[in-house]
Amino acid sequence: MDDIVTTAPEPSAPASTPSPDWRPLDPAKFRDPMVTAKGERRASVRLTALRTLWFNTGTLCNITCRNCYIESSPRNDRLAYLSLAEAILYLDEIARDGLPTEEIGFTGGEPFMNPELIAMLEICLARGFKVLVLTNAMRPMQRLTAPLADLNRRLGAGLTIRVSLDHYTREVHEAERGRRSWEKTIAGIEFLARIRRGSCSSPRWMRGSTSPRSPKRAGGSCTNRPTR
Ligand code: SF4
Repeated sequence: MDDIVTTAPEPSAPASTPSPDWRPLDPAKFRDPMVTAKGERRASVRLTALRTLWFNTGTLCNITCRNCYIESSPRNDRLAYLSLAEAILYLDEIARDGLPTEEIGFTGGEPFMNPELIAMLEICLARGFKVLVLTNAMRPMQRLTAPLADLNRRLGAGLTIRVSLDHYTREVHEAERGRRSWEKTIAGIEFLARIRRGSCSSPRWMRGSTSPRSPKRAGGSCTNRPTR
């Protein structure tokens, strides 16, 4: 089996205004996926089993964060939307090859901007996978109140929605994500708490956090599964 090699993306200018110390990455770093600019073999990890399959739903996002790993924005559509038909091909491959995959993750861009996301979540959950969605919980998710609540009612036991907060203060969070982003994300978290009511009365926060209004660290998640 081939080694899996992690390489950085092609260097390019940042989507938002660059900070004063921003410098373009040296293209020489990315000439060879197996060898570094210094001529050393790149670090790699051998794949032993596909436990988690991540889908990237596309690079479009409703906001433009300063340090987004993939430079997502409302205009960056370099990575086109993943379709339901494409996702099914991979799920069928897992079944055909008997892979020990337990979890399907969805990230973007903002996954809820993908018009087929709910259908993709549905089929993954219906096939018995645990599902994890990373989201900013803003308008794209909140527009889907009814279908998301319905999905949660029927198949929510396997569904985890993880909301990105960059800090427990509005100031630091908005310095990264833009003005008025805090309130919209908190509204999304409150929506998730409401649709989970019955199985959980408020979002369950990752270890070290307390509540949606004062999480001690980023990455709170609302889930029907117990968290550590
Ligand atoms: S919300 Fe996430 S995907 Fe969108 S710009 Fe920010 S970090 Fe990138």
